[in-house]
Amino acid sequence: VCGDEPAESVEEVRPGIWSIRLPMPGPLAHVFVYVVAADEGVLLVDAGWDSEDAFAAFTEGLHVIGIRLTDVQGVLVTHAHPDHLGLVNRIRRSAEAWMALHSADLPLLRPEVRAAPGRLEAWLEALGVGEDERPELAAAIRVFTGESLPRPDRFLTDGDGLRVRGGDLIVMHTPGHSPGHVCFVHRDEGVIFAGDHVLSEITPNISIHSDLPGNPLGDYQDSLARVRALGDLVTLPGHERRVPVDSRAAQLLAHHEEQLRDARAIVASGSETVREVAERMTWSESWESLGAVDRYLAMGEALAHLVALESRRELVSSEARIRRWRATQRSDSGGRLELER
Ligand SMILES: [Zn+2]
Ligand SMILES: [Zn+2]
Repeated sequence: VCGDEPAESVEEVRPGIWSIRLPMPGPLAHVFVYVVAADEGVLLVDAGWDSEDAFAAFTEGLHVIGIRLTDVQGVLVTHAHPDHLGLVNRIRRSAEAWMALHSADLPLLRPEVRAAPGRLEAWLEALGVGEDERPELAAAIRVFTGESLPRPDRFLTDGDGLRVRGGDLIVMHTPGHSPGHVCFVHRDEGVIFAGDHVLSEITPNISIHSDLPGNPLGDYQDSLARVRALGDLVTLPGHERRVPVDSRAAQLLAHHEEQLRDARAIVASGSETVREVAERMTWSESWESLGAVDRYLAMGEALAHLVALESRRELVSSEARIRRWRATQRSDSGGRLELER
């Protein structure tokens, strides 16, 4: 049953693997928790959004499957976003369960508001956000990133195997959407628990923030190539429909190549700061209609594209207070971008 979002809120997607659909706020509206039968009890993949409604839907789902909350032995978290580990503390309170995630996601559990005073403002200035816009953005970001998230009891590493009924879940580190994002590959059942790495309709947000530097888009492209090479496994995603992982990963790779070409062309035509580039890139809505948090995410995504281009030596940036970007000579003459990866 590939290609359909389940109509029922609980579905046995493979023998001994169930999805429970939980409500969450925002346009995605739903997030999936997966229940995987183990030799003793069950493991969960992800733990939804933290709300009374979501917890009620979760316990009702367990009831439909015919297991108790105390059967939960552990919670495997694909990445440390609030819609994937929301119910962990409620579950740990009722069951003697552990929670595990990849250590590279630990910075996400520590809210950005705890950063040194003025650091966020300096970050926004470096992006090219003017003094008039900075206070509004900083306030919205502090609310958006202000919550503390549950701490893990264990860590997951690439290649780890977790024994479940009928096979093993193999941990695959797939950084990009977050630095510690992991997928879980279940070869025997032909599925990959994909978190937010590969979604059927939307392209997952790939952003650089003040707490998360690096080259996440470059990482994401490498991670897409990795899951694409798995062949015809079906995704068990955090949201949306289940799809073949290889063809969707190929689409996402093509999408970002196009975005990279656009971003480079925008810089080549004279936009210098992240703020200016973001405003001219193509988003699902017009720039004017984006709220403060969405503008911040869009700038983080624009920056991820510029940094990826810089790592390919298609762009260079200044080290000044406001980071300014320009296209390199080589790519100006080259026309078509050649991958150096
Ligand atoms: Zn996410
Ligand atoms: Zn998500």
